[in-house]
Amino acid sequence: LLLVVGTLVVDHARPLALAGFVVATLGYSLRSTLLQIDLLERQAGLDQLARQDGLTGVANRRQFDTVLQAEWNRARRSGTELALLLVDIDHFKAFNDQHGHPAGDRCLRAVAAVLQATAGRAADSVARYGGEEFAVIVPGSPLSGVLALAERLRMAVEALSLPEGPVSISIGVAYLHPPATASADQLLADADAGLYAAKRAGRNQVTLHARVLDDESGEEGVIDC
Ligand code: GH3
Ligand code: MG
Ligand code: MG
Repeated sequence: LLLVVGTLVVDHARPLALAGFVVATLGYSLRSTLLQIDLLERQAGLDQLARQDGLTGVANRRQFDTVLQAEWNRARRSGTELALLLVDIDHFKAFNDQHGHPAGDRCLRAVAAVLQATAGRAADSVARYGGEEFAVIVPGSPLSGVLALAERLRMAVEALSLPEGPVSISIGVAYLHPPATASADQLLADADAGLYAAKRAGRNQVTLHARVLDDESGEEGVIDC
C-alpha cells in the first residue's frame, strides 16, 4: 500500500514518496525475517517432537537408534568404553490389570523422569525402548561407574512413592571395552541377555554381560555377574 501511495504522490511530494518507499522496503524485509524465524522455530519444535516419546517425554526409539549408532562409532574411533542399560519394569502387566492403564501411564512417566534425573551426566541418554522398557546409553564410563549407575537407577525407582504402591525394575547391562569386535546390535543383544538373566534370577536387580579385551593375550573375555 505504501508503495502504491508513494508512486501516486511521487510527482507532488517527492520526499514523502521516498520515505514511503524506504519504510515499505524495510517493513517488508522485517516481515520476511520474522516469518523466517517463526518457520525455523516451528521446524525445530517439530524436529524435537519427532525425537521424543509422546507419553514420557524422553527420547523415542528412533532417536535411541541414532544415538546408539553415533556413540558406537565414536567409541570405536576413540577406543573408549561404551555401556548400554536395558531397563524393564517388573510385573507391569499385573500393575495395569490391577490399577488400570491411566495409572500405568502415570507410572511410566514417573519411572522415565526418575531415570532421566538419575542418569544426569550430559553424555548419558535415556530413551523409551518400547512398552515398559527403557534404555540408557552410557559412553566413556568405567565398568564400576556403569554398575554403580545401574544400581542407583534401580534404587531410585524402588524409592518412588506412587499412590498405587512400590514398583521395581530389572536392568540388563552390556559393556564393551574397547568395542572392537562386536557391533551395536551385539551390545543390544548382550543387554537383552542380561535383562533376561535379571528377570530369571528374581527381578528388581542388575545383571551384567560385559565384553573386555585382555591386555596381555589380546583375547576378548566375557564377564557375567
Ligand atoms: P516382567 O516382570 O517379566 O517384565 O513382566 P511384565 O508384566 O512387566 O511384562 P509383560 O511383557 O508381560 O507386560 C508388559 C505390560 O506393559 C503389558 C502392557 O499392557 C504394558 N504396557 C506397555 N506399554 C504401555 C503403555 O504405554 N501404557 C501402559 N499403561 N501400559 C503399557
Ligand atoms: Mg518388557
Ligand atoms: Mg516388564
